[in-house]
Amino acid sequence: AKQEGKGTYRFFEAAMGAQIRERRSIEHDLHNAIENGELSLVYQPQAQLETGEVLGFEVLLRWNHPVRGLVPPSAFIPIAEESGLILTIGEWVMRHACQEAATWTRPLSIAVNVSALQLGSDGFPHLVQGIVEETGLSAERLEIEITETALVRDPHRALLALQRLKELGVTIAMDDFGTGYSSLSNLQAFPFDKIKIDRSFVQAVHTKPQAAAIVRAVLGLGRGLGLPVIAEGVETPEELSFLGQEGCTEVQGYLFGRPVPINELTSLICDNVIV
Ligand code: C2E
Ligand code: CA
Ligand code: CA
Ligand code: CA
Repeated sequence: AKQEGKGTYRFFEAAMGAQIRERRSIEHDLHNAIENGELSLVYQPQAQLETGEVLGFEVLLRWNHPVRGLVPPSAFIPIAEESGLILTIGEWVMRHACQEAATWTRPLSIAVNVSALQLGSDGFPHLVQGIVEETGLSAERLEIEITETALVRDPHRALLALQRLKELGVTIAMDDFGTGYSSLSNLQAFPFDKIKIDRSFVQAVHTKPQAAAIVRAVLGLGRGLGLPVIAEGVETPEELSFLGQEGCTEVQGYLFGRPVPINELTSLICDNVIV
């Protein structure tokens, strides 16, 4: 038994070592990913529930690694956050998304995910202002999606940053609402304009009564606070009709469109110009 224990320990040690090397390798490669042109953006429509009309897009980051292939955000965003690389990457995302949206002839909104480290970084609102000015995008079309974890480390700093962004005209959405360390008081203490219901709740509305109750409660909360609520991860007509019945007005999910490169969306972003 003693032998076995030792073997198990060695096995874990080896596995841990491999995991650490894997992280280091990803971090190392991520350093060069921007310069090497390995990062790209995909756009997922956000639509009006009643009419299906596209209101805007959420921008999602993709990393096409030369050897690993497509690396999902869940495998590299946390590493980018821990290493501080998210500051450079996030700035790249913001600039490219705004540049892109500024060329559209339809004034659709563009929602960009902003991590805790970015929001708390020096001069973040100033950076956003600069990008908005240099790209010519109307700040009213820009939305930032932040999770509640972005508020906890330094709430005062987060509040100041959000207030400055709001003064610019930027819309602030609370992302992944109800997951992680949430507190309803955040909706009172911070200037949110919109609530996003996480995919985990939407997906379970027909299998878990708790999920249905949570979705209903968040929609009620939105009504009470006068904040629009968007449901994410809508995949089936049944989920859509549930959301409609409960008074949800905006939706995002595979039912309306998967995240795709911008060249696949030309008919949505530009009015047809007949010459
Ligand atoms: P998120 O902000 O909650 O983004 C929504 C995720 O749900 C996206 O995953 C999207 O592709 C996926 N999704 C949307 N509709 C459906 C659906 O109907 N079914 C299913 N199965 N999935 C759906 P993705 O693109 O893998 O991104 C994962 C997470 O990575 C995002 O979650 C966000 O937290 C983070 N992320 C992505 N891009 C960025 C970025 O540019 N900056 C930062 N800081 N984080 C990002
Ligand atoms: Ca998001
Ligand atoms: Ca807006
Ligand atoms: Ca989510």
